[in-house]
Amino acid sequence: MNSNNTVEPVVTAAWARRLGETRADLLHIADRWPDLYQLRLPGTATRHTTGYASLAARRARDAQARAERRDRTTDTLGYSAAPLDVEVLDTLTDILVGADELAGRIAATAGAPVLDPPSTAYDYAAIRGYLIHAGDHLADAADVDPEALDDAQDTARSMRRKLDKALNEIADGHRLDTVCAFCGGATPEAPAGGERTLVVRVVVDQLVIVCANALCSPTSADCGTWVRGRPAWPEAEWEWLNKRLDMPA
Ligand SMILES: [Zn+2]
Repeated sequence: MNSNNTVEPVVTAAWARRLGETRADLLHIADRWPDLYQLRLPGTATRHTTGYASLAARRARDAQARAERRDRTTDTLGYSAAPLDVEVLDTLTDILVGADELAGRIAATAGAPVLDPPSTAYDYAAIRGYLIHAGDHLADAADVDPEALDDAQDTARSMRRKLDKALNEIADGHRLDTVCAFCGGATPEAPAGGERTLVVRVVVDQLVIVCANALCSPTSADCGTWVRGRPAWPEAEWEWLNKRLDMPA
């Protein structure tokens, strides 16, 4: 039909964009939920998020290996696990339930097989499968029923927001177990240095590492971002920062 020719391409472009954004949200959740899962145990703080996991990863792995050796050899029965963080578990369970239900609705609409429900409310490993299944059949479901895309877009966006909020809340304020390469941790209170001054902060919804030391003054080549008068490094620079922190002083 000629009358459709002028309208259709616009609808298709908007449609494709919404489809793409929704798939990106689903993938983001699939990629990031393990970060939150790792946070469920207090004491695993140094393995926080993907970004600065690398920053302290080696030290954390070493500490863990030492702890595991110790657990195996001494007093295994007396070892008590840290309490579970209930809020983190609730968020993960919400996401699990939301992902299962969304995948079920999309598959049913698209005429695709519906995946089995999670074995328990804590079967977090199943999250990825539901999200991938939902993404795979989203276009077909949206073809059958345009409201399926509205539903998926709203649900994915809200799950993503919930996950990011939980990750940011926990990461915010976390102090890195390493000494700043630019001030050596020499603060007004501890002029000899060695203080742990690097802190993760959430600034305008982005994670940054800030040196809290008032005396820290890296050159403009070493730091291009300042947060309330303190040098800061956004997530994109953490790989680089990690290398600087690992250099011998
Ligand atoms: Zn510093």
